[in-house]
Amino acid sequence: MKKRTFIKISSTLISGSMFSPLVSWQQGNKIKNWAGNFEFSTDNLYYASSVTQVQELLKKYSKLKVLGSRHCFNRIADSTDNLISLKEMDKVLSLDEKAGTVTVGSAMKYGQLCPYLDDKGFALHNLASLPHISIAGSCATATHGSGIKNGNLATAVSGMEMVTADGRVLELSREKDGENFLGAVVNLGALGVITKMTLNIEPTYKMRQDVYLNLPVSHLTNHFEEIMSAGYSVSLFTDWRTNDFNEVWIKSKVGEGIPFTLQSEFFDATRATKNLHPISDLSAVNCTEQMGVPGPWYERLPHFRMGFTPSSGKELQSEYFISRHNAVDAILAVQRLHEQISPHLLISEIRTIDADDLWMSPCYKQASVTIHFTWKPDWRSVSQVLPVIEKELAPFNARPHWGKLFTISPIRLQSLYEKLPDFQKLMKEYDPKGKFRNEFLNRNIYES
Ligand SMILES: Cc1cc2nc3c(=O)[nH]c(=O)nc-3n(C[C@H](O)[C@H](O)[C@H](O)COP(=O)(O)OP(=O)(O)OC[C@H]3O[C@@H](n4cnc5c(N)ncnc54)[C@H](O)[C@@H]3O)c2cc1C
Repeated sequence: MKKRTFIKISSTLISGSMFSPLVSWQQGNKIKNWAGNFEFSTDNLYYASSVTQVQELLKKYSKLKVLGSRHCFNRIADSTDNLISLKEMDKVLSLDEKAGTVTVGSAMKYGQLCPYLDDKGFALHNLASLPHISIAGSCATATHGSGIKNGNLATAVSGMEMVTADGRVLELSREKDGENFLGAVVNLGALGVITKMTLNIEPTYKMRQDVYLNLPVSHLTNHFEEIMSAGYSVSLFTDWRTNDFNEVWIKSKVGEGIPFTLQSEFFDATRATKNLHPISDLSAVNCTEQMGVPGPWYERLPHFRMGFTPSSGKELQSEYFISRHNAVDAILAVQRLHEQISPHLLISEIRTIDADDLWMSPCYKQASVTIHFTWKPDWRSVSQVLPVIEKELAPFNARPHWGKLFTISPIRLQSLYEKLPDFQKLMKEYDPKGKFRNEFLNRNIYES
């Protein structure tokens, strides 16, 4: 046994769970992200199950990073020094029916929260493609689903409890903290340890999911808004190998007083006759129910089911946000690169997200379309094709997803965020000595 591992285990016996290693996340002594495309740069992993324990860790260590559910594909959560997990802080803390909010421990996963909310008669406004991700980690990177009128998941946050580098406990809320709150929600893990999140909720609803096959890309030119507005949340999937989108997933609210017309054809695309996976070669068993079968919102908004592997499982991901005004031109620009993209690709997805007011959100003051790439797990090839895509999308000021792989230079990236200087000030205010700074933040937020 390595000496450091022994010390951590001994400490567990002395002081409870706080210093115990999270063995299940480790392979040997190495901790990996979900995709397994990188190992974290330290095996010093501690966990805290209370604010007091978070404060003790903050007092003890001059450098650390918080882990969520480790679903990011890049090193945004990495540390060369210490990692902490709040894995046990994953409970519902209060439900305020009158205010329309729920407050949860920040490590709670959407997949844990949703059935609870539904049971109480409530829902969230949207979800990502998978429910397996932590609420704090998802909001930190502006994780999103789809829907012309749906903001990203962080737009549902109305309050947060955050412990700053010096151990102060801050209660931040949209109502009372104005600009600082808008800077702190999509925080890239740079401001403090988020211990609680308060989310806006709404009355529960039922949804159905209908899938159509082979939608000609040419229809986007005149009908983009119409296609993407055909449901509450719409996704287009393509491998760019033909002139069609392979699959169109339309998620619609259903219920009394909500009109719904089912078409056998949708802009020349035909209705699927069985459940499908976005990667058509893979079994749909991991996917949420389709074929128009009504079900709870949280079993239709994500593409993948809790308890099952989301997506392919062996993959890398990249995604770019573009102003919706440029949606069609940007999609066609990517289509022109199909020969370079397709050999390395498992599937692409097009989604829409509404504009928001969160400083570091890629949708800040910009209704957006996203072009997503699920790549084969071959970084050497992907790292060569990303600059080609980024060059093609540069005229549209494409912003990369904070939690996925990109090669855009720091200077270029920084120029795409008008509130970056304010965010840097906020980092200085909450974390003057750079306790939460890591290589990812040093490079992308500070390098000039
Ligand atoms: C299969 C798959 C499908 C995906 N689908 C989507 C999708 O549909 N839409 C989309 O937008 N993204 C998607 N993603 C990306 C994913 O949602 C984001 O990367 C998200 O940030 C993951 O959350 P996490 O909890 O795993 O965060 P982590 O990767 O663990 O951490 C992300 C950041 O949050 C910080 N952080 C985490 N918890 C805290 C805390 N308590 N306090 C302070 N900082 C904290 C970390 O330090 C880090 O900076 C997908 C990823 C995978 C693997």
